[in-house]
Amino acid sequence: MGVQYTFISCRTALSPSGLPGLTYSLNPYVGCEHGCAYCYSPSVLKDKQLAESWGRAVRVKRDIAEVLAFEVNHKNRGVVGVSTVTDPYQPIEKTVELTRKCIEILAQHDFPVSLQTKSDLILRDSDLIAPKKFDVGVTITTMDRDLARLLEPGASPPDARAQVIEEFSERGVDTWIFLGPIIPEINDDEKSLREVIAIAARSRSKILYDRLNLRQWVLERLQPALEGERPGLVERLPQILGGGTFWREICSRIKSICSALGVRCEAAFLS
Ligand code: SF4
Repeated sequence: MGVQYTFISCRTALSPSGLPGLTYSLNPYVGCEHGCAYCYSPSVLKDKQLAESWGRAVRVKRDIAEVLAFEVNHKNRGVVGVSTVTDPYQPIEKTVELTRKCIEILAQHDFPVSLQTKSDLILRDSDLIAPKKFDVGVTITTMDRDLARLLEPGASPPDARAQVIEEFSERGVDTWIFLGPIIPEINDDEKSLREVIAIAARSRSKILYDRLNLRQWVLERLQPALEGERPGLVERLPQILGGGTFWREICSRIKSICSALGVRCEAAFLS
């Protein structure tokens, strides 16, 4: 089934952000074609309808660049996270170039930008993404292509994402890998974690890690994806994640691999 696009107007472009290190968030789209099975953005957006059609319906904020052009002259400078509840380089961006227009405006007005994506389309904007003004984060949950396709069906394959990190790092841009969400019994084993952290070591990137977040609607969306991999796991997830042991062990495993490979790492959210 194809993706349904709706073009909408927006009232604001820069929204205050409570996320670590960010002053504002900027989301050119509502919804995301990458359709990750674990995505909790619908819950953040409190949108049940969007949750039910996640990955298949995207609202495009057609005038966001014009709104942003006004706001950069009226708001205090601060770090802008692009994006926080959508992927700024999902396929529609190739055609409408809203992310490109917005980051160009932000760079011209000296707003530092923190980009996060799972798409190699970001390489298109290499001419704009300069060291010091930008940092680039790429989410890599696993280097296993088949597992990534199952969990993140619309995103670029993991080796293409690794290539993104390596290319920006070579250009002198500050790079980081978001290793998450870590899902019990799916991508939490030593080998899987080590393969992702090895990319951080090669590219001198920092690792930010996080566990699966069971916000509203996540379990329902995970069920069909995980049932074939691990029958019965979805029912056990609340209990596994609810106890402290799982996460303590994973944190210690990640820290130990990072320390051995000389990689800086920290939990993405204090927990
Ligand atoms: S890329 Fe990010 S926003 Fe898009 S579906 Fe995946 S987790 Fe959600």
